[in-house]
Order: sequence, then C-alpha cells, then structure tokens
Amino acid sequence: MSTVNIPSPNGQPKIGVYVCHCGINIAGRVDVKETVAFAKTLPNVTVATEYKFMCSDPGQEMIQKDLRDGKIDRVVVASCSPLMHEPTFRRAMIAADANPFLFQMANIREHVSWVTLDKNAATEKAKALIAAAVKRIVLHRPLEKTRVPVTSDVLVVGGGIAGIHAALTLAEAGRKVYLVEKEPTIGGHMAKFDKTFPTLDCSACILTPKMSAVRAHPNIILWTYSEVAEVEGFVGNFKVKVKRKPRYIKEDLCVGCYECVEACVFKKGITKDEFNVGLSKRRPIYIPFPQATPLVAVIDPETCVQIKRNKCKKPCVDACERDAIDFDQKVEIKEIDVGAIILATGFKTFDASRISRYGYGKYPNIYTSLEVERMVNAAGPTGGEVHLQNGEKPKTVGIVHCVGSRDSKTNAYCSRVCCMYSLKLAHLIKERTEAEVYNFYIDMRTPGKGYEEFYEKLLKENVHFIRGRVAEISDWATIPEEEGKLVIRAEDTLIGAVRRIPVDMVVLSVGMEPHENVDEVRRLFNVSCSHEGWFLERHPKLAPVSTFTDGVFLAGACQGPKDIPDSVAQAGAAAAEALALIDRGYVELEPNTAYLQEEFCSGCKTCLGLCPYGAISFNDEKNISSVNGALCKGCGTCVAACPSGALQQNLFTDEQILHEIEGVISYV
Ligand code: FAD
Ligand code: SF4
Ligand code: SF4
Repeated sequence: MSTVNIPSPNGQPKIGVYVCHCGINIAGRVDVKETVAFAKTLPNVTVATEYKFMCSDPGQEMIQKDLRDGKIDRVVVASCSPLMHEPTFRRAMIAADANPFLFQMANIREHVSWVTLDKNAATEKAKALIAAAVKRIVLHRPLEKTRVPVTSDVLVVGGGIAGIHAALTLAEAGRKVYLVEKEPTIGGHMAKFDKTFPTLDCSACILTPKMSAVRAHPNIILWTYSEVAEVEGFVGNFKVKVKRKPRYIKEDLCVGCYECVEACVFKKGITKDEFNVGLSKRRPIYIPFPQATPLVAVIDPETCVQIKRNKCKKPCVDACERDAIDFDQKVEIKEIDVGAIILATGFKTFDASRISRYGYGKYPNIYTSLEVERMVNAAGPTGGEVHLQNGEKPKTVGIVHCVGSRDSKTNAYCSRVCCMYSLKLAHLIKERTEAEVYNFYIDMRTPGKGYEEFYEKLLKENVHFIRGRVAEISDWATIPEEEGKLVIRAEDTLIGAVRRIPVDMVVLSVGMEPHENVDEVRRLFNVSCSHEGWFLERHPKLAPVSTFTDGVFLAGACQGPKDIPDSVAQAGAAAAEALALIDRGYVELEPNTAYLQEEFCSGCKTCLGLCPYGAISFNDEKNISSVNGALCKGCGTCVAACPSGALQQNLFTDEQILHEIEGVISYV
C-alpha cells in the first residue's frame, strides 16, 4: 500500500468534499446544490462538488484528479454507509498515491435521505454531518495497514453435507483440512433420508461416496465425536483447541464388524437410538448405521454398566478379536493452528409437541416427517415399511405442512424445504402402502429446478391437496366411520368450508430451527445471529457466506433453512472464500486499533479482561498495560473504560471524536 500523502505546501489541510446524488436516493430528499454551496464555506475546504454516482468510475476519477492536481489532500465523501463504499473510495485514494486514511465518509443516505420525508430537515442534517466530517478529518494522520502471514490449514466444523462438501473442495485444492463433527459419524441429516427430492435419488447412494472420500482423503483429518473447546487469534492465525471425547474404542484397530455390539448384554437395547430419532432402541455399544464414517463402534458412557458402575462381565471385550475396546480412554485435547474456519453446524427440526392441538405425543400414529424419513428407509427401524402401531398398513394418511413455520406463535419464517419433502413423503408413502394421501398446505412453495414438475407428478399420482391451515387433530369421532381414526379439521380455503378428514396416520412436516448449540458456537467463534438464531452473514447479497469475524465463513443450514443443492452450493462458496484468503499468503490488518500512551497509564488494570478479543495483557515489569495490535479489532471497549485516557484508538482519538461533535453542534 502506498503511504505517500500529498503535501500541503502552506501546512494547511486541503479538503475535498464530494456530495453524491445516489440517483434520486439522496438527491430526491436532500438539496444537493445547497449542501455543496454550504460545504464550500467550511474552513480548509478547497474543493466542494457533486456527482450522480460518486462510487462510479467517473466519480472516483474526479477525486483522483483533484488529489493528483494538488487541489486537495484529504477527502470527504457524503454518500451512503461506509459499510458499502468506504473500501471503494480508500482504493481510489491508494490509486492516486494518497494515504487512504485521510478519508472520511458522511452517511447522508441511510442516516438522512432514507429516514425522513422532510426535505428541509434532510438538507440541514446532511450539512451538519458534512460539517462534522470536515472538522474531524483535519486531525486524521496517515496510517498503515500491517501484513501478517496466514496459516494455510482450514477448520470445518460440522460434518453434514455442507461440511463434507466444503472439506472435500479444500482438500482437493491441496489444503490440509480438520473436519470436526460432534456425533460419532459424519453425514448429518442427509444420512437419515431414504430418497431426496425432486429426483428421488437414493440419499445414501449420493452421500456415502462423499463420506468415504472424506475418510480416505490424505489432506483431511477427520475428528468425529469431537467438539471445538476454545478459539483464539484472528483471521489467518486462529489457535483452536478441539476436545475429542473418548469412544472407548481404539479407532485404528476397530474394523466395524459389529461383533462387540452383538455380544453386549443389553440384547434388546437400552436407550433410544438417536439415528432412528427414537423409533428404535440401541445398545450401550453401537455403530450408528452400517455406512457410518468412520465405521467404528462407540460406547455410550451414560448407559454402559461397566463404565457407570464397573459391573459387567464385558462380553464385548471378549468378542472383539482386535482388542479394540479400551475402557481407559480419556478426553483428549488437540491444539491446531488454522487460517480460516468454516461453520457448517446445520439445524434441528421443530419440536412438534409445542403445538398441542396437533396431538403429537398424545395420540398414536402421529409422526414427525423426520421419523417417517427413517420409516421409509430400507435400513431404518421398520425396514422401509410404513405401518401403524398395530402393524397394519395405513389406508389413509394426512400430511400437515408448515408445522412450526409461517406462524408468528412459533417461527414466522418459511422453512423452505417442507413443501418439497412433504411431496416426497407423499410419493413414498403411496408407493409403500397404496394409501390415500391428503396434503394440507397453506401455499405450495416449489421454487427450484424440477420442483414444480415434481408437484405436477404428485398431482398425477392422485395425491389429494387441501389448501388451508390445519386447526386441530383429534380422535374425536362424530360418525361411525371416524371411530378409531385421527380426525384432521382444516379450513379448505379453495371451497370456503371447514373439512373433517378421518385418517389412520398423520405426518407433521416440521420446520427447520437453529441448532440447539447455536449460542455456544456463536460465542466460541464470535459470530452474530439473526433474531431467530441463524448465523448471520456479513451481507445477504454481497457477502452471503462471510461473517462479521474475518476468516470465519458459513455453509449450509446453520445460516438459514436450505435444501441440499443450496447447502452444497453455499459450502463450495465458503470453501472458495477460505481459499482466496489463504492463497494470498497474508492478511492486512486494519489500523483502527487501540494503542497505549505509556506515560499516562497508571497500571490500574481496568482494561484487563474487558477486551472481547484478548488483545490486552499487562507488563508487570513496567506496571502498564499493553495492546496486541494483531488481536485488537478496534471495538473501543478498553478505550472507553480507561480512566486515565491512556488508551486511545486510531481514527477514533478523543480529539477526533470531540471535533466531530463540535462540527455537528457548531452547525446546528
Ligand atoms: P446438517 O445436515 O444438520 O449437518 C450438520 C452437522 O453438523 C451434523 O452432523 C451435526 O451433528 C454437526 N454439528 C452441529 N453442531 C456441531 C458442533 N458444535 N461441532 C461439531 N459438529 C456439529 N433437502 C433436500 O434437498 N432434499 C430432500 O429430500 C430433503 N429432505 C428433508 C427432509 C426432512 C424431514 C428435513 C427436516 C430436511 C430435508 N432436507 C432435504 C433438507 C436437508 O436436510 C438440509 O438441506 C441439509 O441437511 C443441510 O445440511 P447441513 O450440512 O447444513 O446440516
Ligand atoms: Fe468390531 Fe472390535 Fe470395532 Fe467392536 S470394537 S466393531 S468388535 S473391531
Ligand atoms: Fe455392553 Fe457391558 Fe460392553 Fe458396556 S461393558 S458395552 S454394557 S457389554
């Protein structure tokens, strides 16, 4: 970066003020001519002018020409939010050999024209903000960005389809990837499905080759049954501690032969099988499913009587020919250095019992969609059969869309996948049982490649569609034909009548919600969440996989409800962003960091422990604090707290802030 500052021959700053129309976004509300005339009257302003779009090439060239011609040495642009175009104008200054920190933006769009209808008030406020910017920029000093080398390894957290795809993309590009998954196997939700919409291709057939590729890839270190315990550092240089829980099985010796599982004393199982979402039981020693990756057994310490009470004859140990069982395993902490992190921690499904009028958990034969996904799976608890609790096939099935979605009492948002997977389940249930299937929907949302065609196919398969929200599901029979059935009561908005449909089985199409560990993960990686709890992207359109923490990217459903194609596309994008960061070889750190004026530090230690980024330490020898510029993010917490004013911040010194306030007040 160039640091050449255009000299001011007479020692006085020469400020250029450029007011942007932003089409009519600003000019429709602010009197730009009057604002420019006002700017011309301000002290040290040598150029004041206007342009339709300052961010366009001609707009930037105006600034560059004035800098090169020596008319100005500092720049104020009155336009939009610095979040949008501060980098654009700083780059323009660098191209004109000027220091980019001799620049200030006055936000007269988001803070002015977009928030009032009053043209006079808008023009007056725009003038005040420009006066403030001109007043503070006099005190700007040329600053330098520092360059720090980056570590080329990447951490991917979460081994669902998004994490798997991101890890493989990076590994194929020659990067070393640590893939950390909290469950004993990778695969996420997709591993539970039998078929995927809209193509109805076998989920395992497309997922398991990718899972095996992860296991076999020389550039991927796969740590399942593990969680990130601590993250320190900054973009390009993260130090991460990963906690590996004991499986009580030696991973390098186990071949996944199931001998130990078969031998376990709890032949009928002892606890609900998480993989089958509670539809079957598993033993204390288990392998989640036959294609689990890694295909290694795991012992659950909560249910294994040997671990809990030292009271088992341990037939599993005798059964294992490879001596893989090891009851002495302990938690292991691995420390790694990575340059970038991709979060792919996925989602959880809505808890259907929260809507009591739908009777989940109260009446038999009411299932969630995820339970039915396991039921229709040939490797699932019923071997692919769909049957009622009495073992008979259902003759009528009702599928209720939008359970926990599009409802202000639960989640106002649309979960995006439920219409499509409800159609998929309608097809699969009909295929397995020949039942009459009724879909109760609010709106049919099928905006994807081949999705509308899939809906058309279902119409031809004679699946019934009733447009209207379901009011209630009960066992309340009013006529003999309803006896022993579940009665779905819904308003049919197409015929304008309330309908009662008796069915044998109900499927509740539960929506997607943020993962239950979202708060923990958010705090660990210092990322923000939307009010619903989804990880927040830096910008929905321009930076959809970045976060506000540089070097931390998002992939898949942890960022919001998504289907598999979108999760994979986003994972590819996150991997590309991580690669772009790493391949540059260095990161440039912004200079808006805090610094200590040693002579004023009283050693009171108020600032210690306040910094959310751990950038402040204490020098016992000198009895003063010290700021690590590489860790400091310029949040200003320590600066505001320091009682002696010893801590200051580049671009936000007390003097600069007071000047800015004076600028506003002197005008108002
Ligand atoms: P997930 O599949 O949720 O994977 C996230 C992974 O991260 C999990 O393995 C989890 O254990 C792990 N994890 C979480 N927290 C941590 C942590 N702190 N540390 C380490 N690991 C962690 N989409 C389709 O396109 N076609 C379909 O047919 C289809 N059917 C569906 C049916 C149902 C009933 C539902 C609910 C969804 C369906 N979807 C379908 C959507 C699909 O499930 C998602 O698009 C996909 O699973 C998103 O993948 P993911 O990797 O982002 O999240
Ligand atoms: Fe087979 Fe031993 Fe692994 Fe159990 S622990 S699956 S017995 S190799
Ligand atoms: Fe099962 Fe006993 Fe082995 Fe524990 S020690 S896994 S309870 S056989």
